[in-house]
Amino acid sequence: SWHKVRSKLKNEVGEVEYRTWLRQIVLGPLEEGELTLYLPTRFLRDWVRSQYEERLQTLWRSERNDVEGVELQVKRGLPEISPAEDLEEELNADTESSTAPSASPLNEIKNDLAVPLDPRFTFDSFVVGKPNEFAYACARRVAEKPSSPGFNPLFLYGGVGLGKTHLMHAIGSELTKTGHVSVAYMSAEKFMYRFIGAIRSQSTMEFKEQLRSVDVLMIDDLQFLIGKDNTQEEFFHTFNALVDAGRQIIVSADKSPSDLSGLEDRLRTRLGCGMVADIHATTFELRISILEAKAKASGTHVPEKVLEYLAHKITTNVRELEGALNRLIAHADLVGRPVTLDTTQDVLKDMLKAHDRRVTIEEIQRKVAEHWNIRLTDMSSARRARAVARPRQVAMFLAKQLTSRSLPEIGRKFGNRDHTTVMHAVSRVAELMEQDTSFAEDVELLRRMLEG
Ligand code: ADP
Ligand code: MG
Repeated sequence: SWHKVRSKLKNEVGEVEYRTWLRQIVLGPLEEGELTLYLPTRFLRDWVRSQYEERLQTLWRSERNDVEGVELQVKRGLPEISPAEDLEEELNADTESSTAPSASPLNEIKNDLAVPLDPRFTFDSFVVGKPNEFAYACARRVAEKPSSPGFNPLFLYGGVGLGKTHLMHAIGSELTKTGHVSVAYMSAEKFMYRFIGAIRSQSTMEFKEQLRSVDVLMIDDLQFLIGKDNTQEEFFHTFNALVDAGRQIIVSADKSPSDLSGLEDRLRTRLGCGMVADIHATTFELRISILEAKAKASGTHVPEKVLEYLAHKITTNVRELEGALNRLIAHADLVGRPVTLDTTQDVLKDMLKAHDRRVTIEEIQRKVAEHWNIRLTDMSSARRARAVARPRQVAMFLAKQLTSRSLPEIGRKFGNRDHTTVMHAVSRVAELMEQDTSFAEDVELLRRMLEG
């Protein structure tokens, strides 16, 4: 019956469309009336889902009465046939035979081609620190003077959630302020989607013309084009046409051009020809500055200790950091109570779980030493000065609380001290915490930061 469904589909949608989108469907299991159909990529799955799901369902139902619905799923490892591949002939013919239509008017480009810019992503709302200052400076420069020699293309790269998209939108907003410059921004995924859509609707010339008439083209997350050879090829030609015509190209990716090994060599070479700027992982200081800026903008007071806690806990992704803060603020608004360290831990429980891990005595020693600004070696040294001895006691106390190590084991890690020393430290710290609230807060903060 798959065979029958297929030939009906082919009849309905036509050979080209069938080959482009539907040929790669692989039959999966039928369970409780639900038939699973597999596609090799998320892109294809989404497309087929949006365009053909209902049709597939109807055809299957009429073919077999034990099928109630179809479920489209992605299954990696199916042979992937690039959707554009089959159409290469048509595409080439198209390019050669068509006479170029005149460029579309600007407003049409803005409507059709570009994805709207997020008004929150501006230069003003971008917090600058050591890890991103170079990328920021490059972005500013390109926004001021697009297409200047040495800055074309501008290639921004860095890990997830470090501000690549933010900077691109900021450039776009800045450039469109004046209204004289036409800017097109889209993700590489969107680029491919549009490109294939254009092939499908036989409007590739229009697509090319539109792309080639912008002053600034920004393509986000270029790594998506790895393995998408036809789209890469198209992008390469667009890229060359634009740069040759003195237009600005801005590209982002998760790796540097030389590390994007799945991209064609000639494309990588050209991408590396302008300015390449790396956004480094955030530092603690930058995370704090970002949190301070966002808290201030929200108008809700968030204690410094809470910001420190977040900056310690969520270290890799600014988006997550922001998400955590927003959640705290929303919660505080809702219940009408201020944000505190207590509520923070409660509100973000599930979110922080992912970042939790077993804490080691070494880690405890490091964090505590950092906190009171003493040398790590003093954790095991014989020095007895209060400034050193107190933090050491706190570290022992936390080691007892947060690890399953025995007192003698802990003692050994602190310069071979006796287990009675550790015991004394534990009770001394507990005592001090009762007497001195600011000390207690310090210990509490450390405990929460370390907690696994
Ligand atoms: P990427 O594109 O690199 O994955 P985004 O640009 O989408 O990251 O940034 C993720 C989120 O973090 C966005 O909401 C962005 O505004 C915010 N963000 C990242 N870096 C900064 C920064 N330096 N200052 C302010 N916000 C930032
Ligand atoms: Mg991004």
